[in-house]
Amino acid sequence: MTATIEVSGATRAYGDKRAVDYVDLTLEAGRITCLLGPSGCGKSTLLRLIAGLEPLDEGRVLANGQDITHLPPEQRDMGLVFQDYALFPHLRVDDNVGFGLGSLPTVERRARVADLLGRIRLGERGRAFPGELSGGEQQRVALVRALARRPHTVLLDEPFSGLDSHLKSEVREATLAILRETDAAVLVVTHDAEEAMQMADDLALMIDGRILQRGTPQACYLDPVSLEAARLLGEAQVISAEVSAGVAQTVFGSVPAPGHPDGGAQVMLRPNALVPGPGVEADVSEARFVGQAWRATLTVGEVSTQARLAHQPGSRLSVSLDPAAARVLA
Ligand code: ADP
Ligand code: MG
Repeated sequence: MTATIEVSGATRAYGDKRAVDYVDLTLEAGRITCLLGPSGCGKSTLLRLIAGLEPLDEGRVLANGQDITHLPPEQRDMGLVFQDYALFPHLRVDDNVGFGLGSLPTVERRARVADLLGRIRLGERGRAFPGELSGGEQQRVALVRALARRPHTVLLDEPFSGLDSHLKSEVREATLAILRETDAAVLVVTHDAEEAMQMADDLALMIDGRILQRGTPQACYLDPVSLEAARLLGEAQVISAEVSAGVAQTVFGSVPAPGHPDGGAQVMLRPNALVPGPGVEADVSEARFVGQAWRATLTVGEVSTQARLAHQPGSRLSVSLDPAAARVLA
């Protein structure tokens, strides 16, 4: 597949703090990349560097092999969507969507706008003003406005975080369906792990201005490069282990540890790593119902960890360790 956007060595400092610190990132045509990281880690800055809204201190940005590092934003052929929609309030919805299509003949422009509004089920609302639409509708308009020129790249910065939670999943689904139809390279910035995993073909995990890991959601979740990376994607517990001949032994069971030196190590457990069944007897404390499961603290000897269980546990529980949900940390 062709690499549409290649960012290499991108760096941007404010004062002496590097908001984006020597980042490499590739966005591929037809794929959705989610950039996930905590607030303040540099996600928006990186997006603005790609869009040309912010100059790079070092590094470069290529689009389809061409250096666009110094090209102004309007010449980059990128569609942008921000959290606050940023629709023009004084323009009607259809004029918002058609805003960047001035070079097209009127008939063609109208047809494309009608098609886009139809796809977001707002075909009847073209003559409304943005303020007359709900937040979810405005965000869908902002999305199709960004797609109207059929840009090779679409960049979305926390596109759902301004929406009420009951609207979020619906607008997210609608957005995903439309993005899947385009062959643009798509970058979605978010601090929400579930959202990132739901949307991403490729994930990029960012902390402190750096990309820690890239990969599919599944690979990043199950094979995190560090505990920090693991915790970006969800709960992770750590217990101690003793490695011998490529196997890490914990009080709950063993985990393959190929290539790890013998001696003390740490094992990361996802919440579903401890499974009721034949294994070791654990003491159960602090069992709580958390919606789809029970969470409880399980203790064997001196070692305690938290687990998610399908059924309410008693005070003792026999569990085994599912190595598929556990990893020895480097
Ligand atoms: P994120 O989008 O991940 O929340 P940002 O890219 O907005 O993070 O910000 C990264 C860091 O850069 C933060 O520490 C932020 O305060 C700082 N920063 C961002 N923009 C500016 C700016 N224009 N001037 C000074 N500092 C900035
Ligand atoms: Mg941001």
